[in-house]
Amino acid sequence: MTTANLPRRASPARAATPSAPFGTDVTWTNWGGNQSATPAFTVRPRNEQEALDAVRFAIREGLPVRAVGSGHSSSPLVQTGGVLMDMSALSAITGTDRERRRARALAGTTINAFGDPLWEQGLALGNQGDIDKQQIAGALATSTHGSGKNLGSFSSNLRWVRLINGYGEIVEIGEGQLRELRAAQVALGTLGVFLEVELAVEDRYYLQEQITYPTWAETASTWDTDIDSNRHYSFLWCPENDSCELLDLPGAPGLSMANRSYTKRYNVAHIQDERDISTVEGARLDRSYRIYPGGFTTQFHELEYFVRSDDGLAAVEAIQDLIRTKYPEQRYPVEVRWVKADEGYMSQFQGRDSTVITLTTEPGTDYWQFFRDADALLQEFEPRAHWGKIHFMTRNRLERLYPELDTFIHVRREFDPHGMFLNDHTRALLG
Ligand SMILES: Cc1cc2nc3c(=O)[nH]c(=O)nc-3n(C[C@H](O)[C@H](O)[C@H](O)COP(=O)(O)OP(=O)(O)OC[C@H]3O[C@@H](n4cnc5c(N)ncnc54)[C@H](O)[C@@H]3O)c2cc1C
Repeated sequence: MTTANLPRRASPARAATPSAPFGTDVTWTNWGGNQSATPAFTVRPRNEQEALDAVRFAIREGLPVRAVGSGHSSSPLVQTGGVLMDMSALSAITGTDRERRRARALAGTTINAFGDPLWEQGLALGNQGDIDKQQIAGALATSTHGSGKNLGSFSSNLRWVRLINGYGEIVEIGEGQLRELRAAQVALGTLGVFLEVELAVEDRYYLQEQITYPTWAETASTWDTDIDSNRHYSFLWCPENDSCELLDLPGAPGLSMANRSYTKRYNVAHIQDERDISTVEGARLDRSYRIYPGGFTTQFHELEYFVRSDDGLAAVEAIQDLIRTKYPEQRYPVEVRWVKADEGYMSQFQGRDSTVITLTTEPGTDYWQFFRDADALLQEFEPRAHWGKIHFMTRNRLERLYPELDTFIHVRREFDPHGMFLNDHTRALLG
């Protein structure tokens, strides 16, 4: 078990065990089944005090702490031999402000739990990703995103956070502390345990879905128009006819999907009456949050890299060549999305409007060399990587890619001077 030289400022009363429900030596495994750990204690706080007690318990016992959300990350972010904080019981929308377009929620609130309560207040999340099962603090920790050239990641909308730091204290970061806020926006769980967050949200809106199946030549020829003229535009390029099926997506009726794209466009629709809602697959018209899928039933593993959007087409075509020439057995679609630049110090989108390229592979198959080659191939585009997916980032690479890395590390050390919220993976990157 890893132990940490931990701070003593809080000097809480001694207790032999955490006050929250806990288990010892319980094995944790992530959604994709490729990451697991057996922490000494797995604690499930039911309120803020129990969360605070758990961190103070860890400080006294010299144990490191990691929080876990819905376990949807496939990089080794969550592992710890110390105290694992399962935040799932801290789930509720705690406030909305229609005028300022803000919503507050406890850290363990899943994205799908925002939908109805926000709608009732005339509000909605500005964008969502491919699933809505993640806890909001988990999504924020890795800069989880959807698609749309004018739409930022969840992290870009973080405006306030209440968290437990490495001294065992509850502290708040708001818009008056921009330096700390930009660190908190994408922190990989290394600033402390988030308890509650405030997000900038939007007036509620309906979305109209449009699914089409152009050839690759057509997809490439309308590249700029599609990105510019749709609120959400994304596509999945299919190397083979059965590629769509691997992700449970309907293919084009009567057409081979090989070298075609499954394209998605979501634009704002104005309806007066909810009787106009349509749930017809491929042409849905619904409240924004109902348009996004809930989750996937089949496991997969992903590598996701981000290049400047000016390099997007060249980078996608390089990956297509790699699959055609060296990895024809890789049949999953290649997903392509867009995200607006933001300012979070460790955000993959920091200062860069980005094209997102996602490679999906089948668990249990030998995809490692494919991912390694994709990583090497994309180097000419200076890619950043999704923190929650498989990647090959190193501290050296971060120094080249993240201009505010040092600022982030300074803030991290102020919040957690002895690194109690680090594990091996995050220590190597951000210690
Ligand atoms: C099927 C699938 C679809 C996906 N789709 C998308 C997508 O469309 N777009 C996208 O960008 N990503 C996507 N992802 C990746 C996913 O959104 C991220 O990995 C996200 O971080 C997972 O959230 P989680 O709640 O599962 O967090 P976890 O994976 O459990 O944890 C992620 C990080 O958050 C930290 N954390 C969790 N809770 C707290 C807390 N309370 N305080 C401090 N730190 C905390 C953890 O310590 C860890 O570092 C997908 C993943 C899967 C498996």
